[in-house]
Amino acid sequence: MKNVNAYAAKSNDADLEPFDIERREILANDVKIEIDYCGVCHSDIHQVRNDWGNSKYPVVPGHEIIGHVTEVGKDVKNFKVGDLVGVGCMVDSCQECQSCKDDLEQYCENGMVATYNGPDKHLGGHTFGGYSEMIVVREKFVLKVPENLDTKAVAPLLCAGITTWSPLRQWNVKKGDKVGVVGLGGLGHMGVKFASALGAHTVMITTSPSKAEDAKRLGADEVLISKNEDEMKKHQGTFDFILNTVPVGHDTNPYVGLLKRDATMTLVGAIDEVDIHGGGLIMGRKRLAGSLIGGIKETQEMLDFCGEHNIVSDIEMIDIQNINEAYDRVVKSDVKYRFVIDMKSLKK
Ligand code: NAP
Ligand code: ZN
Repeated sequence: MKNVNAYAAKSNDADLEPFDIERREILANDVKIEIDYCGVCHSDIHQVRNDWGNSKYPVVPGHEIIGHVTEVGKDVKNFKVGDLVGVGCMVDSCQECQSCKDDLEQYCENGMVATYNGPDKHLGGHTFGGYSEMIVVREKFVLKVPENLDTKAVAPLLCAGITTWSPLRQWNVKKGDKVGVVGLGGLGHMGVKFASALGAHTVMITTSPSKAEDAKRLGADEVLISKNEDEMKKHQGTFDFILNTVPVGHDTNPYVGLLKRDATMTLVGAIDEVDIHGGGLIMGRKRLAGSLIGGIKETQEMLDFCGEHNIVSDIEMIDIQNINEAYDRVVKSDVKYRFVIDMKSLKK
């Protein structure tokens, strides 16, 4: 076991602060990774503040990890020392259930192991995430990172990227479709980039008129201000698909009204109660769905697509010492569009 520098929150109303954690010695199938960068997801904040009621303290967040390999176990086949790699929201799953066999480890029927706040099978207790110097991960859950991209800006692809890519692919978004992305934050800005790269007519649906110009720069063909009822009316019944990244429970009815007959809106953000009127779905045979991150195979496909199409996140770099201030800014929807922590700052 190794002592490693990290940052943790010790309770739901505490700031994050320096904290020592242990990592296991590498096993035959493990890869040891020195962490270079870690993105800051809104889920990190939900977990630190116990918004979902299931946090375990101390919480060491971080599931948008980029680093390089410093050691591999004797049975590791796909990675060698020096490789540029990523780790996302999962570090293990049973590998035996139907979901795992279908490359959908995020829906593992025996429970996937989340990168942080998951059950740690090796050391007991719970897992610790990427706000740390180093991590040891089972090979199967390590991703290859294309070398041609700006490495810092790749980090958010490991969660914000795959969480938006997976539903766009699952609901077969294609050229000619009219696709809405609700919420221009970490997830939403990747949703716009991907929908646009897949050839869809992409509409950014935002509460923030000040983000309109950015939305267009990111690839949106149109911007719809959701608080403007006249504008919302004009778009009624016209969308083939809507990806909703709003991070809290909310009234989904105005967005469902935007869908065409038989079209789907998929929630990825509101992991709590939402308001939905049955009539809005029934009149038009519409669908409300949900989606959780993406499987490892699909995450690798997304990273490879980003390598080929030169897609990365728009990021603001921070030192770990500024993490608490960064959280407050994310909650105020004031980040363009993902904070990424430079992990070298942990050594300061
Ligand atoms: P974020 O950066 O805070 O972005 C969320 C955006 O939603 C905001 O920038 C804002 O955009 C909009 N918004 C905020 N509050 C709103 C409200 N009350 N009503 C309408 N719009 C609102 O968050 P994120 O990192 O993208 O994460 C979004 C959510 O997805 C979080 O809840 C996170 O936990 C969850 N998540 C889910 C998965 C999954 O697998 N399903 C994976 C990762 C994250 P505008 O200013 O444009 O309105
Ligand atoms: Zn996340």
